[in-house]
Amino acid sequence: MPDELLSRLRRFHNEAFPAYQATFKALVDEGQHPTTLFIGCSDSRVVPYLLTGAGPGELFLVRNVGGFVPPFDGSTGYHGTAAAIEFAVLNLNVLRIVVCGHSHCGAIRALYGDTPEEAHNLKSWLRLGKEAMLPVADLGPEVLRRTEQRAVVLQLERLMDYPMVRRRVEQHSLSLHGWHYVIEDGQVHVFDVLSGRFIPSTESVHSGTGPYTAAAVDDGRLTPPRLDPQA
Ligand SMILES: [Zn+2]
Repeated sequence: MPDELLSRLRRFHNEAFPAYQATFKALVDEGQHPTTLFIGCSDSRVVPYLLTGAGPGELFLVRNVGGFVPPFDGSTGYHGTAAAIEFAVLNLNVLRIVVCGHSHCGAIRALYGDTPEEAHNLKSWLRLGKEAMLPVADLGPEVLRRTEQRAVVLQLERLMDYPMVRRRVEQHSLSLHGWHYVIEDGQVHVFDVLSGRFIPSTESVHSGTGPYTAAAVDDGRLTPPRLDPQA
């Protein structure tokens, strides 16, 4: 029986890779210098490269159930997301952090419902979204949408508890962006701290601000300077 996945790997090597070979060689020779840490939900319908048109070397990705940021509370467990945040900020010196939630998020829905009894880690992880919940009995689409957006802002606030993040945000060398991607519309709504609302990208004048008004000016450029012919 033919293995489709193997065919896909071979197709990448034979057909797609040649077009990127020079870019990857530069990224290997000079190392990676991504400008953006993207923290997003693991949902298969959220495709950061499609949303941003990014290519190799442009996004440092962390994905988990819900796109949550764990608290910076001094504990040192196997905190993969926290480790990635520290690495991106302290080692890679990223210029911005994007937290991206989305419509129809299973993690947000699970906040209001049951999770499998066996899923101990999942239950514990979902606590990171509890504060975003709304005290309502009817779980309609609007409640879920608002909870998804509140969860994004909650993660932005939690990011500010990371000393290296807070320091750089206050020095205006790092900006934070909250996004809510509506899958069925192909529209990212960006958090605007001045209005406290999520604004469709087609109407917004910026790609996200927050959680504080005194945010760094961000030109939104994804391409690392060493790969950017315009830099
Ligand atoms: Zn999700």
